[in-house]
Amino acid sequence: MITKKYTDSGPGLLKIPVSFETKQMKVLVVSGFLGAGKTTFIKTMAQCSGQDFCILENEYGEVDVDTALLKEETENINVWEMTEGCICCSMKQSFASSLLTISGALDPEYLIVEATGVGLLSNILANISQIEYDRIVLLRPVTIVDAGTYFYYQNKFDTTFQDQIQAAGTILLSKGEHMSVRELEEIRRDLRRMNPAADIVTEPYSEKPFRWWKDLLSAGMDGRKISAPGKESSAGWENIGLRNVRLSSPEELLYLLWEAISGNLGAVVRGKGILPCGKEWLRFDITDSRFSITGTEPSKESSVVFIGMQLKKNQIRRSFQFRISSEQDCDQSDRK
Ligand SMILES: [Zn+2]
Repeated sequence: MITKKYTDSGPGLLKIPVSFETKQMKVLVVSGFLGAGKTTFIKTMAQCSGQDFCILENEYGEVDVDTALLKEETENINVWEMTEGCICCSMKQSFASSLLTISGALDPEYLIVEATGVGLLSNILANISQIEYDRIVLLRPVTIVDAGTYFYYQNKFDTTFQDQIQAAGTILLSKGEHMSVRELEEIRRDLRRMNPAADIVTEPYSEKPFRWWKDLLSAGMDGRKISAPGKESSAGWENIGLRNVRLSSPEELLYLLWEAISGNLGAVVRGKGILPCGKEWLRFDITDSRFSITGTEPSKESSVVFIGMQLKKNQIRRSFQFRISSEQDCDQSDRK
């Protein structure tokens, strides 16, 4: 018998979802010129909000040393990169399919898109809204503006710079700590002139309270509130479902399942999956603190699901190899 839903009324009544009920992935685009501090902002947001993030970086046209830092310093974050072109113009198609694959394969609550500094924010938003449907929802975008170079960029890169400001829902001024109130007010007035509707923050965002981050992560494009971040059910049950995953050997699966029942991936109470582990396809089940592994026929799609409390979602994601590319469904070579 196949059960599609699980209840949150306690471990005894928990049913494993066989087909996924994909959660809505909320997409926050963070834009800003190179050096404005996009990476620092994303890092701060991850720390201050404590939410489940994956990050997609588009680093076209800039050499960003921050990426390596972000990966190293924020252990609980998954970072994916698109470096071959600009997601506002040349990579529309692969950008769209990447969003869909990430939503399906990694199942994050939030995907933060760190836009290239040279990209037009309005184009990026337009590209996402073309694929926006019940699985993906756009949040009000954030633009980071370096206070120190504001008037210089305003004159020098007028089109891109102004587009990033005009299309923003929230504008955050960075590096304004050492500027006078008068200087900051002058920038604020100029920002207001270009974008009368945006929330403009000139004080350091790192001092903002939890409530502010929560609002930032729940404001839709039209200002309407999208379901607030937080626990997924009142009882605290969570689940994560991943697709297109693989492991390099059966031993790796064995190790992973030991980790799961030892509590190293959070309090996993149920788990289920079918995936290739090296040359063979295996099926596993976790029930309370036991697991079983059996061999199985190759399947069209690999998938795993974990249910429990305080799941270490990014650690779980990192335990698997993914195929995040538009070609993933064409590659049949290793499925025999
Ligand atoms: Zn572009």
